[in-house]
Amino acid sequence: MNSKKTLGQNFLIDKNKINSIVDSIPFLENSTILEVGPGRGALTKPLVEKAKEVISIEIDENMISVLKKTIIKNNFTLIHKDILDIEWDDVIKNKKSIQFVSNLPYYISTKIMFKVAYDNRFDSMSVMLQKELVDRIFSKTNFKTYGRLTVSIGSLFSLEKKINVPAGCFKPKPKVDSGFIVLKRRKFNFDIDDYLFFIKCSFAMKRKTLINSLKKSNYEFSDLVLKYLIKNNIKINIRSEEIEIKTFLKIFESFPCQ
Ligand code: SAM
Repeated sequence: MNSKKTLGQNFLIDKNKINSIVDSIPFLENSTILEVGPGRGALTKPLVEKAKEVISIEIDENMISVLKKTIIKNNFTLIHKDILDIEWDDVIKNKKSIQFVSNLPYYISTKIMFKVAYDNRFDSMSVMLQKELVDRIFSKTNFKTYGRLTVSIGSLFSLEKKINVPAGCFKPKPKVDSGFIVLKRRKFNFDIDDYLFFIKCSFAMKRKTLINSLKKSNYEFSDLVLKYLIKNNIKINIRSEEIEIKTFLKIFESFPCQ
């Protein structure tokens, strides 16, 4: 069966990597695993063996028919749908301890990561990403790679483990290497939607100052951010790329609604 490039189908074939990836996923025995893109089941099969329950969402009907024949277990649910059309409530309502796992389809990996990040019912997010995206997530300030993704993910999650996955571990072999990262959700007292909206507005205008970016986005607390900068002796023309994650959190904490 041919793989579909448009669906980001690069299948994991390296058994040792598959084992170390599955072993790195937290709380397997007591958790519901939500997997996106099971493909031919490289991760799904060992997950079904080890986890309490696995729910996998796959868009490609060819993969669905393979999986229906090869994984027949009571703790496995297969959903034939586009992940972007899924309402989490239809899938994980009333579930406890939910871990998200995916060898992500690269063409929508950030969209899926945000979809998981926004919902704090997911205790962890363990994902395979192209190296370029891993670098963006763990970027330091003042690098081109530092941006909305870095601050959003870095504020909500801590890195538990990173496994390098060379291109040769996949078939077909992609042009670039990948990394599998295990992220655990931090305890977070703010409203996630409000916080991520603040970060989105902060990075809305590339290479503009924080204040300009917020103002252009009509962000309601722009003036409070300006006051915060002045009060804390931070230059008022600071660019968002220069601001550490902990400072974004402190600024947000200073808003009256928090
Ligand atoms: N888990 C398998 C593995 O590791 O070998 C396959 C991973 S492959 C990188 C990505 C998978 O995501 C493919 O099976 C693809 O069909 C599926 N996929 C792509 N777009 C999708 C979407 N919008 N919703 C659900 N699944 C999708």
